[in-house]
Amino acid sequence: MSSMRDFFHLPEGMIYLDGNSLGPLPAAAADAASKVIVDEWGAQLIKGWNTAGWYRQPGQVGDRIGRLIGAPAGTVVMGDTLSIKVHQALASALELRKQRRVVISDTGNFPSDLYIAQGLLKSLDRGYVLKVVDPEDVEAAIDETVAVVMLTEVDYRTGRLHDMKALTRKAHQAGALAIWDLAHSAGAIPVDVSSAKADFAVGCTYKYLNGGPGAPAFIYVSPEHADEARPALSGWMGHAQPFAFDLDYRAGVGIERMRVGTPPVIALSILSAALDVWDRVDMGEVRAKSIALSDLFIREVESRCPDLSLASPRDSSKRGSQVSFRHPEGYGIMQALIARDVIGDFRAPDVLRFGFTPLYIDEGDVMRSVDVLEQIMVSRSWDSPRFKSKMDVT
Ligand SMILES: *Cc1c(COP(=O)(O)O)cnc(C)c1O
Repeated sequence: MSSMRDFFHLPEGMIYLDGNSLGPLPAAAADAASKVIVDEWGAQLIKGWNTAGWYRQPGQVGDRIGRLIGAPAGTVVMGDTLSIKVHQALASALELRKQRRVVISDTGNFPSDLYIAQGLLKSLDRGYVLKVVDPEDVEAAIDETVAVVMLTEVDYRTGRLHDMKALTRKAHQAGALAIWDLAHSAGAIPVDVSSAKADFAVGCTYKYLNGGPGAPAFIYVSPEHADEARPALSGWMGHAQPFAFDLDYRAGVGIERMRVGTPPVIALSILSAALDVWDRVDMGEVRAKSIALSDLFIREVESRCPDLSLASPRDSSKRGSQVSFRHPEGYGIMQALIARDVIGDFRAPDVLRFGFTPLYIDEGDVMRSVDVLEQIMVSRSWDSPRFKSKMDVT
């Protein structure tokens, strides 16, 4: 796979290993946003909803995401943030399994997904139970009491990859539905929600997909449920006829009903520019290169920085596109790396996280980043007060 580096703006000298958290700026993004601001909003004002196609954009951009996650056209729509989409998917799925009261998730899930589930189940106030088990115990926890299995495919902390197909099959055999969060999968690994038979899938677009901070999330509903699922967040844009201004809600056709309110038009134009880059790449090739880079990083860190211990699965087939190491002084070590322009991030209590994004990272970056890490470990330069004060975002 040839490097797509020129399609991104990356500051000179920086090795960016945090595209799993916030992707870099696509080179075409500023012009795309400026076109919407000046030529569309500026020149066309309210007419832009029709003349510039703003109204249909959530579905059109959704179809482009669909190609990356194995979803057919007309089954993905954009809007809101991932936390909101988790709420919608879970509320809809619970209604499709009305007689049951158990939701299964795991300790590797991202806290916001668990918080959303806790909040929703409490609001419903019908005796629901959220069972949060260890990732390796999910399969055994699925029985005939379970309404919904709600999992994130790739663990944000360790990169551990669930078997989406096998767990979905297990859920279906027990009569439950499966919701998959693809936050660390879309643009990271090949995903096929259709062949895995996922009932719902959700994800964000500011991580591997490079849509920019606060870029809108996506939701997929399988065609089997799309006309039946009731969107608990029943906003006007998901109404069958938003511009009839009926006093009563009637859900729109299929995935359109998962729209809630006015879409973020400018953010969607930036995301579109990011997806232009994705149109040029094959996810199989991205995966092969991501594995090569990750394996190289693991090998080099283990041989040159023996105090760090691998927190990610060693088997690349059980790992997403990130590698994590543990160290009790992980926070300070990461701050020292960032000060040297090697950008990863830290996740409490002791995890140093590095994302491998083959669109703009190559073997030379991997080797240089380990050189810097080795120097920091040998010199103990992390052991300085300036690397120990915690900032708002780690
Ligand atoms: C990044 C991430 C989120 C963040 O949700 P937002 O609403 O976009 O802030 C949620 N869930 C998972 C699994 C994530 O990785």
